[in-house]
Amino acid sequence: MKCRHCGTPLEHAFLDLGFAPPSNAYLTLDDLTHPEKYYPLKIKVCDQCWLVQTEDYAQADELFGPNYAYFSSTSTSCLAHAAQYVEKMTQQLGLSKDSMVIEVASNDGYLLKNFVAAGIPCLGIEPTDNTADAAENIGIPVLREFFGEELGKQLAAEGRHADLIIGNNVYAHVPDINDFTRGLKAALNPGGTITLEFPHLKRLIKYTQFDTVYHEHFSYLSLFAVNGIFGAAGLRVWNVEELGTHGGSLRVYGCHESDPRQTFPAVTALLTQERSSGLQTLNPYRGFQAKAEKVKDNLLLFLIEQKRAGKRVAAYGAAAKGNTLLNYAGVKPDLLPFVCDAASAKQGRYLPGSHIPILPPSAMMEDIPDYVLILPWNIAAEVRQQNVELIERGVRFVTAVPKLEVF
Ligand SMILES: [Zn+2]
Repeated sequence: MKCRHCGTPLEHAFLDLGFAPPSNAYLTLDDLTHPEKYYPLKIKVCDQCWLVQTEDYAQADELFGPNYAYFSSTSTSCLAHAAQYVEKMTQQLGLSKDSMVIEVASNDGYLLKNFVAAGIPCLGIEPTDNTADAAENIGIPVLREFFGEELGKQLAAEGRHADLIIGNNVYAHVPDINDFTRGLKAALNPGGTITLEFPHLKRLIKYTQFDTVYHEHFSYLSLFAVNGIFGAAGLRVWNVEELGTHGGSLRVYGCHESDPRQTFPAVTALLTQERSSGLQTLNPYRGFQAKAEKVKDNLLLFLIEQKRAGKRVAAYGAAAKGNTLLNYAGVKPDLLPFVCDAASAKQGRYLPGSHIPILPPSAMMEDIPDYVLILPWNIAAEVRQQNVELIERGVRFVTAVPKLEVF
């Protein structure tokens, strides 16, 4: 296999999680009577452009089917983050009723609804029907397409150039990152701004966030790699911010290469920091596998010990990262009988691979466990705050990544 950005043959393994079903392929009761598709889940690193990427195996449309159940609006921290972002960008870029904002992967309209409320024209691009329906129901125009160069050019030809193009948690999920980036270039007005948010590779390595690896997540990005991909598409990264979301993300700001804006010192500073962490050497990539195995072993040990002691453990949050962890560890309902999730689209379904049933959060109140394993560790504080009553009744919360912790 060759690097998806620069075409160099990929020779260096970063992580091998064996085989797993797609992390968002939540199952119905009927699905449990049929065979389930498993795909290899292996990650490699390119020693030329340092893009960390999944091995090729399947088409994107097979992964983002009509049942893709993630609704951004179910996370209150995600909604607050989006509202703050919209306020900041509206002021900073002077957006008005004469501007145009495009969000790629607009999901259920969790972000664009803030632009609609402010009277700023916007367009969502979202290939997943059930989330697009939700966005349209609250008055957001949505184009049901995958984004890339062809669509970017089409939007430009229709006069729908954007002053701001937003991509939150989509850049790492696109199979053809060069095509996607050329699409951003094509749809961007002269003087326009692109902002992309994605988990930072440096944090993934530092905090052993191997459970953020799944098939739908094609790239694991450093600023160095993104800078190179932008450059190849005629774009320039002019600013970057480090965010706390998803265990440590970057928000990169892009513009046309020829834009007169000065590049902020934060860009050079973070590139220097990445270089000194060795991200452009093989060192941090080697040995990551052993760190992931240790996390897996400690979780299994904990679950088996509780089972033998007659204690009951439930899980909270039917998130993609939970599926990676549980499938890699081989956890089944005998160790973890149910998982609670606030998203009604997931309730009544089963986690892919592990076949653990997904119940509403009220199930934890009706059938109180001894421990609750929070699978999306990035929202652990939020989950604990929402469940003070359980804590008062003696329930202990647990996270497995980066190391097993009982609160
Ligand atoms: Zn490469």
